[in-house]
Amino acid sequence: MKDTVQFQLSPEEAKQEERIKARIQKELSWTGNQDFYFKWKRRSIDARKQAIRINCTFEVVSDPSEFSVLEPFHEQNVQGANPVHIIGSGPAGLFAALRAIEQGLRPVIFERGKDVRSRRRDLARLNRDMILDTESNYCFGEGGAGTYSDGKLYTRSKKRGDIHRALELFVHFGADPDILVDAHPHIGTNKLPQIIVAMREKIIECGGEVHFETKVVDFDVQNGKVNSLRLEDGKTVQTEHVIIATGHSARDIFYLFRNKGLALQAKGFALGVRIEHKQELIDQIQYHGRLNDDFLPPASYSLVTQAENHGVYSFCMCPGGIVAPCATGEGEVVTNGWSPSKRNNPYSNSGIVVAVLPEELGDRNDPFVCLNFQKEVEHRCWAAAGKTQKVPAQRLVDFIEGRVSKDLPETSYKPGLVSVDLNQVLPDIIAKPLRKGLVDFGRKMKGFMTNEAVLHAPESRTSSPVLIPRNEKLMHPDVEGLYPCGEGAGYAGGIISAAIDGMKIIDAIALGLSSEVGE
Ligand SMILES: Cc1cc2nc3c(=O)[nH]c(=O)nc-3n(C[C@H](O)[C@H](O)[C@H](O)COP(=O)(O)OP(=O)(O)OC[C@H]3O[C@@H](n4cnc5c(N)ncnc54)[C@H](O)[C@@H]3O)c2cc1C
Repeated sequence: MKDTVQFQLSPEEAKQEERIKARIQKELSWTGNQDFYFKWKRRSIDARKQAIRINCTFEVVSDPSEFSVLEPFHEQNVQGANPVHIIGSGPAGLFAALRAIEQGLRPVIFERGKDVRSRRRDLARLNRDMILDTESNYCFGEGGAGTYSDGKLYTRSKKRGDIHRALELFVHFGADPDILVDAHPHIGTNKLPQIIVAMREKIIECGGEVHFETKVVDFDVQNGKVNSLRLEDGKTVQTEHVIIATGHSARDIFYLFRNKGLALQAKGFALGVRIEHKQELIDQIQYHGRLNDDFLPPASYSLVTQAENHGVYSFCMCPGGIVAPCATGEGEVVTNGWSPSKRNNPYSNSGIVVAVLPEELGDRNDPFVCLNFQKEVEHRCWAAAGKTQKVPAQRLVDFIEGRVSKDLPETSYKPGLVSVDLNQVLPDIIAKPLRKGLVDFGRKMKGFMTNEAVLHAPESRTSSPVLIPRNEKLMHPDVEGLYPCGEGAGYAGGIISAAIDGMKIIDAIALGLSSEVGE
């Protein structure tokens, strides 16, 4: 016997095994003492009404051997197999490498940043002493931009099978299996690094290679095909298949494409601020006054509106999180956010961003029109806050009313804040819709509009401002064998979608190779 049952319970009941068991029996109209086993299949919170409910789906079986099982990681020894060179070890690059092994290809990863452990020391220096290492930071290094993040694993992608496979692989390498159940799964900064290390160790054990502090600075194209890669130390690596999974912050890669005369396009993106509230306040608003509740996780929110003909929305909301300095170059400041697995910091933060299109910023045919705008805002914010890694900041109501905050409350942003009027620092195309959008969010969430909330600027690395095009074989249209991939190339907007894109590229390479063999 195998069945699936769905019902709602209160948060308290959803934690009690006996209550769950009794309810399953009732749902299945069982009166006798049948033995059965159950496990969570799906779990989400419905907090729209005062009486909060947990939507529960359970898999019920009469024998534990009937429970659905995870598809394993199909490892094999790929030493001596066809190599695929992968630039970048973010989720796109790492999941490409794992899939390569499953497909019998040998992944060779080049990563400009350091391994997770050494990278952690550089992050500590950045937070404590404001010393930015432009090759080892929150965006560059083993695991990419996702390693020291909240590790939220939900995506707007609709491909359920692919999403499930990416989550399964996370579980295979050490993530809590609850991520397969929760509607809004997340891993947490404290747990992600060891998962990333487990992936790397498996890649090497199977015969793949991972090279840290190895920046790819050029590639050579002969007769329309990629032929070799050049590393920063001058070495050359022969290649036929290269995956460019370098993320949205590797601007040098965009310039490299431009200098080689290869096609690029401007891509709309979003820019704004990172807002921080007390987590207690967000819990109170979202859970209708329930506070310090052992039965509910720290609350999150997702807000969206239209203002001044622009989409304004919350982005990468981190309950119980920390605002982090995410710059990658000198002369800029950038914010983003992360949370530990328990999300137990006293603050909640979220990007509040305004979507902008290339044509609003200048010549839409200039591939760098959005990138230049992004750079300019990051530079202006850096200059406005005293040319360090401190960020310009303002209390929320003061921003709406256009006055510099007399003082700023303590926030989680370690390097520190400088009080300014962000209306003067952010361009009007951002500041105006942002003001209106925030006022609307205050109407939607009673209590959100408080002068205890602080805006940190800018939140500017929401997605890539440049698109590297690709054809139906997923290669760059000008270069055979060169595969733009993941967020940097414009095909992903988060950890899971980047991971899915990495796996998809490998499938395309494997398909191409198998059809060559068939010819
Ligand atoms: C602080 C923070 C929190 C985030 N929180 C979340 C979250 O909770 N959920 C979510 O879905 N997303 C989150 N994101 C976004 C997410 O991390 C990215 O969407 C994702 O990592 C993109 O994956 P990627 O593999 O395409 O690129 P990246 O992760 O950016 O990886 C690219 C890698 O390429 C390397 N590289 C670049 N150039 C070169 C070169 N020339 N040679 C060699 N290596 C190179 C870089 O060092 C980097 O490691 C967060 C990002 C940050 C910064």
